[in-house]
Amino acid sequence: MDYQNHMVNFSTYLAGLRARALADMIQPDVIDAAFNGLMPLADVLKQDANQSEFSLTLAAYLTRALPAKRISKGRAMVRKHRALLNRIEAEFNVGAEFIVAIWGIETDFGRTTGAYPVVRVLATLAYQNRRRAFFESELFAALHIAQNQNTPPQSLLGSWAGAMGHGQFMPRSYLHYAVDFDNDGRADIWQTDPADGLASIANYLARHGWQNGASWGGEVHLPDAFEYSKTGLGQTRSLAQWVSDGVTAKSGNPVADYGPASLLLPEGAAGPAFLTFGNFDVLMQYNRALAYGLVVGFFADAILGEKVPAHEGWPRTPPLDRAEIALLQGRLNAMGLSAGNVDGLTGPDTQNAVRQFQQAHDLPADGYASRRVLRAVQDQQG
Ligand code: CA
Repeated sequence: MDYQNHMVNFSTYLAGLRARALADMIQPDVIDAAFNGLMPLADVLKQDANQSEFSLTLAAYLTRALPAKRISKGRAMVRKHRALLNRIEAEFNVGAEFIVAIWGIETDFGRTTGAYPVVRVLATLAYQNRRRAFFESELFAALHIAQNQNTPPQSLLGSWAGAMGHGQFMPRSYLHYAVDFDNDGRADIWQTDPADGLASIANYLARHGWQNGASWGGEVHLPDAFEYSKTGLGQTRSLAQWVSDGVTAKSGNPVADYGPASLLLPEGAAGPAFLTFGNFDVLMQYNRALAYGLVVGFFADAILGEKVPAHEGWPRTPPLDRAEIALLQGRLNAMGLSAGNVDGLTGPDTQNAVRQFQQAHDLPADGYASRRVLRAVQDQQG
């Protein structure tokens, strides 16, 4: 479709949204200010398909997201904002190292909060993306923010994906979790002073069940004969059970017990293994890419002086991209294994379906959607 046609169809699409925006209690003048003359943003869609935390190997993502320079900057930021971070911890019970780690990964400590107009970004994504319902509700939330703050809708700025401010909050997260920590009457997660932005990150983690003082987890070593079917985020066992199975910390130190733990193989049985506790599940609420949660965890530990895991031996083959995962999901569903929505993202349903396929075909049952599994599934179909 050429751009001219897109503009015509986009206007029609926005006109159709108007009645629903009104029903969602958004005022006509706000809708007019947001939609009149609005045009789609051509470069937004291409980027949506290329999120690095999904498209790179864990080693490559770690190298990109957590260079040594960022770790030293993170430590400096903890020192610089020590008083503020202490007040935030006192109120929300979230340690400084995790707040600063998220801040550093999301926006390089507030340096790259994004200069895209969020309403235009979200309208474009809702218009053309397969996750239309998701982006429409984020678009309406953005309009509510503009309306509540009595600010022009086009002045809300964020990333190409619609994420805003120091902690890259989507509009709905802003409405639920942003806080006005400096008490000036507005939860300003965009301003240079990071007080509201950092407190909002802490509030988000706290409201999702953060356990202050507990580790997120760490890299572990598995024994040779290991039952891979016990792995995955959806399954937890006690630390004592994992230890009796022969799971040990990569560091050689005993693993401290922070409650029910999952054994994660983000790149399958051929890659590194991590034992994770409840706080890791909270990080997954912030961003559902395993690589993201792990790198935030490594960063927080590094701020406290630990070494980032050596990753020279980790897999070098890029993971399946979203189109390939969607292809795999479709084939698994057609085989009667319930891989869930064909969305190109590997959640628990897809992992279970992959695991069932692996068990039926004498492959290591790690539940990982590898290239090998995709090939085997395609071979099945002849
Ligand atoms: Ca404020």
